[in-house]
Amino acid sequence: MAAQETPLAGYRAKLLSRVEVADGTTAFHFERPAGFDFKAGQSADLTLQSPPETDGEGNTRTFSIASAPFENKLVFATRMRDTAFKRSLKAVPLGTEVKMDSAMGSFTLHKNPSKQAVFLAGGIGITPFFSILRQADHDRMPHKLYLFYSNRRPEDAPFLDDLRNLERTNPHFRFVATMTEMPRSQKPWGGETGTIDKGMLLRHLSSLEGPVYYIAGPPAMVTGMRAMLVASGVDEDDIRAEDFAGY
Ligand SMILES: Cc1cc2nc3c(=O)[nH]c(=O)nc-3n(C[C@H](O)[C@H](O)[C@H](O)COP(=O)(O)OP(=O)(O)OC[C@H]3O[C@@H](n4cnc5c(N)ncnc54)[C@H](O)[C@@H]3O)c2cc1C
Repeated sequence: MAAQETPLAGYRAKLLSRVEVADGTTAFHFERPAGFDFKAGQSADLTLQSPPETDGEGNTRTFSIASAPFENKLVFATRMRDTAFKRSLKAVPLGTEVKMDSAMGSFTLHKNPSKQAVFLAGGIGITPFFSILRQADHDRMPHKLYLFYSNRRPEDAPFLDDLRNLERTNPHFRFVATMTEMPRSQKPWGGETGTIDKGMLLRHLSSLEGPVYYIAGPPAMVTGMRAMLVASGVDEDDIRAEDFAGY
């Protein structure tokens, strides 16, 4: 994991609501503890205290903060796999407090606005980018931002409508969603299909050289995207990745 880790501090955050944001995918909204600061794109460790059940993986998971720093609540979104941690998070009453460590990680937007940012998200890997994009919109940041967002079906894609709206409010943002398993979908789709590859990037970017690339998602997706970028001639120094270990 990343550098820039601040010393661990214990915060307590109260669960406010659970919202289904895609098939099998829930966003958990928490009260933002006093003094909890973070940068868009960072993550935090959440620990369940006295959960109804536990298993060998323990009571702590790392999640990217999907909400933006300007907001007064904290949102985490996750695929609700059938593990003790997630069954517990789904079952505990609203108002339950979880322990939260200080935000960590350096998966944050680069400073130089003359360099474009290209975000490549696989499924739930959208969470850090959702925070970055909403903060950039809020702050009217001048960076040119591209999001390539890959899911199996629209039903599986968290925050799809919010991202479309961001493209309307931020003139510097271009959103390209792609679906890899449309035959299994019940929804219409007029956008890109298939995995993100060099051809898809070149249909939307003027050049592959120049931007800083950010990849987030399950480890296999991150490995595949990095290899694709390098094979397409992107300098490794321009690639940053957040591996959602555990998927
Ligand atoms: C920096 C960072 C940011 C992250 N951000 C997020 C985020 O925003 N959202 C998010 O959801 N996750 C995020 N993760 C991953 C998260 O920490 C968990 O590892 C992940 O959600 C899996 O937790 P779990 O309880 O489902 O599985 P765990 O109980 O942790 O199980 C881990 C292992 O068990 C196996 N396993 C368990 N269940 C299944 C299953 N149903 N199918 C196949 N294999 C299974 C897998 O091999 C997996 O490696 C992040 C991780 C990191 C390091």
